[in-house]
Amino acid sequence: MDLLLTGGMGYIGSHAAVVLTQAGHRVVLYDNLSNSAQVMVERLERITGVPPLFVDGDVRDTDRLRHTLRHHASEAVIHFAGLKVVGESLDIPLDYYANNVQGSISLLQAMREVGTRAMVFSSSANVYGEPRYLPVDEAHPTGVTNPYGRTKLQVEEILHDLARSDPAWRIVCLRYFNPVGAHESGLIGENPQGIPNNLMPYIAQVATGKLAELRVFGNDYPTLDGTGVRDFIHVMDLAEGHASAVGYLREHAGWQVINLGTGQGYSVLEMIRAFEAASGRRVPYRIAPRRPGDSASCYANPEKARRVLNWTARRTLAQMCATTWAFHSGAGGKGAA
Ligand code: NAD
Ligand code: UDP
Repeated sequence: MDLLLTGGMGYIGSHAAVVLTQAGHRVVLYDNLSNSAQVMVERLERITGVPPLFVDGDVRDTDRLRHTLRHHASEAVIHFAGLKVVGESLDIPLDYYANNVQGSISLLQAMREVGTRAMVFSSSANVYGEPRYLPVDEAHPTGVTNPYGRTKLQVEEILHDLARSDPAWRIVCLRYFNPVGAHESGLIGENPQGIPNNLMPYIAQVATGKLAELRVFGNDYPTLDGTGVRDFIHVMDLAEGHASAVGYLREHAGWQVINLGTGQGYSVLEMIRAFEAASGRRVPYRIAPRRPGDSASCYANPEKARRVLNWTARRTLAQMCATTWAFHSGAGGKGAA
């Protein structure tokens, strides 16, 4: 299929581009490079042997999107583009609504005008808020607690209204749990600008010596060892989930929300130990106070993805850590995101 990947130069989009290209799809990466860099183009070509088409554009630029969709005859869009840092969204909420909500409306308007009515949307487990039960299935009530999560839920709802208004729309909202890891080549991975907010890139930078020590946010949660538990999912498994979703959209109209997680939770201390084993490096840490807004445990019920998309996460925690380490300790980590 001809696919447009907004945010396709970013962490998850680039891994999806690899999987989709290797599955025989033609991908166009539409990105404003606000959190990625041009070097991604040559790295993707080195991995797949196919030079990806890249369009430098913003999703708020409806004209440019319309032109790009027409020119490349895109049959479906995977909408990764957006801002994603929960803490930052509390400081600059307008930027989050402009990029994530206004950007999505602009994209949907362009799609409607050119007649492209199939979308896979990057949503987040963040929309569930504090879990009321575990594992979290799609029937779990939503309960957003920050502007970032609200933008994701609002876009899901806009997409739902669109699908109700016109049965030609084909929409899958994928609620990601905690994507980690990198492509096995070590060429692409997650390399946040500045000090990382998320656990895995932070651990990796402590292991390389770039940061001195990890702060473990709380060891008095009601979990196996007192530290927070999350559903870490290998980004290549996540990428394959998008290929399954695109296949699903070929056959099915309507609107769906589907969790992409493993169903297995790991604690912060388990992550540290697994990373030390994979890297052969020590990861010094100290126990710090809880981070406001964090829940004790959050992991997915991935049954709907298995049933509807015929997709299951396959990769192990050791693979998540080994590929993260290969990326951060090799050439990949020194370049762009
Ligand atoms: P990322 O920042 O690496 O990638 C996003 C890409 O979108 C970047 O390349 C950035 O330059 C681009 N972009 C941002 N605003 C844009 C705009 N207005 N116009 C065009 N391009 C724009 O992030 P990621 O981790 O790859 O996340 C991709 C999507 O998945 C995001 O929507 C994010 O909210 C969602 N998500 C991510 C996680 C996670 O932990 N990484 C978890 C749940 C959901
Ligand atoms: N965490 C931590 N130190 C850090 C970053 C994260 O102890 O420097 C913990 C955090 O409290 C949570 C887990 O690691 O229990 C995952 O956090 P992350 O920010 O990666 O994901 P999210 O909280 O969004 O699920």
